[in-house]
Amino acid sequence: MSAAAEFDVIISGGGLVGASLACALASLPLRVALVEAVPLSSATQPSFDDRAIALSRTSRVILGGIGAWEAVAAVATSIRRIHVSERGRFGSAVISAEEQGVDALGHVVASRDLGAALWGRVGALPGIEVFCPGTLHSPVVGQAAITVELDAGQGGGQSAGQLRGRLLVVADGARSGLRQALGIGATERSYGQTAVVGNVAIAGVSGSCTAYERFSVEGPLALLPFRDGRHVFVLARPPAAAEAALAMDEAAFLRLLQESFGRRIGEFVQLGRRAAYPLSLLQARELGAPRAVVIGNAAQGLHPVAGQGYNLGLRDVATLAEVVAEALRTGADPGGAATLARHAQLRRRDRRNVIAFTDGLIRLFGLAAPGMGAARGAGLLLFDMLPGAKRALARHTMGMAGPMTRLARGLPL
Ligand SMILES: Cc1cc2nc3c(=O)[nH]c(=O)nc-3n(C[C@H](O)[C@H](O)[C@H](O)COP(=O)(O)OP(=O)(O)OC[C@H]3O[C@@H](n4cnc5c(N)ncnc54)[C@H](O)[C@@H]3O)c2cc1C
Repeated sequence: MSAAAEFDVIISGGGLVGASLACALASLPLRVALVEAVPLSSATQPSFDDRAIALSRTSRVILGGIGAWEAVAAVATSIRRIHVSERGRFGSAVISAEEQGVDALGHVVASRDLGAALWGRVGALPGIEVFCPGTLHSPVVGQAAITVELDAGQGGGQSAGQLRGRLLVVADGARSGLRQALGIGATERSYGQTAVVGNVAIAGVSGSCTAYERFSVEGPLALLPFRDGRHVFVLARPPAAAEAALAMDEAAFLRLLQESFGRRIGEFVQLGRRAAYPLSLLQARELGAPRAVVIGNAAQGLHPVAGQGYNLGLRDVATLAEVVAEALRTGADPGGAATLARHAQLRRRDRRNVIAFTDGLIRLFGLAAPGMGAARGAGLLLFDMLPGAKRALARHTMGMAGPMTRLARGLPL
């Protein structure tokens, strides 16, 4: 058998989070392998599809630090107001950029465009060797390195040799086989909901900078401002209702959307392509194993209504890149137990808080008990009057509730 190709860091998965990590590590003196199963140009690429990603302010700063923001900014839409309400209730809460003293609370970008920006950057950087299409399996941990088998092609099965690295980063999504092969267990709880996602125009509205989160007992609806004057919707419904909604013709679906949202901003027209995603909360039990670390959706998969999944994954990236840089500076092992323990320790609180925040929102607004609606309505009204509570939500939304890594503060690694 030929010798394994040697790297410092091997990244399994070049989706939103894995590609971001490759860009982040490129400023360090490291040999990085990026292994991705599905090419960016493929219509079946699972990370880079038509979904819209709401980027927090912190994500914008991190993307700037890894050299990808300029390309993202060219195709992103600003969010300057977030309006949270409940159908059939009086209360609502508004967070505005002016009130928070910032130019924008966040930005919205199609995940396909974000992927193109990240992979454009990967292609321009030295030190990253790309294996695509390729998949990794059968990790074997040694004293100083971890070895993985590389298969060529999307489906695997065709051996293309071995890769050996000091650190294996598992960034290949919620269904990661490598995570399992490394013995890292995960818990998964279904929300009993499927998200129907697509984009829509609103008659007479263009250039909006307001995002809406609207809750009802049937499930939440998020509406985000998008490019070309359109809005992206994420409508969560029980699976059978979501399936029925997907099967509706355009007029019937527009009526459903209008009923769910109300007439607050006008009439929905011109429906784009719809797609469906079953929703669950997935959490890896550990963030690492010897010489391996899990990040992004491989570590935690969230309900998308609060728009936190990639933002949290990008903060995994910023922390991991920082502890690896620190290890290099101090002559420590970037894949050693101390480095991985430091990463896990630094990620614990942010991860726990964001999971609790997102899960709490769904539970709070999903409760149909008598009186709960009024309580929630009053809660939203009070919330709007309580700057402290509002600031807490705003800080989560802007991605500023987590630890401020160097990249998140706009500093180089
Ligand atoms: C409808 C919807 C809306 C969302 N909106 C937002 C939002 O507004 N804001 C936000 O922050 N987040 C949002 N998210 C969450 C966000 O999409 C995810 O958090 C993000 O995609 C996670 O990226 P990832 O790279 O960790 O995983 P994935 O996106 O799952 O990517 C994994 C990658 O690994 C590759 N892969 C898989 N297996 C292998 C293998 N064996 N070998 C090599 N490669 C492999 C896949 O091809 C893929 O490219 C949303 C999610 C959904 C479903």
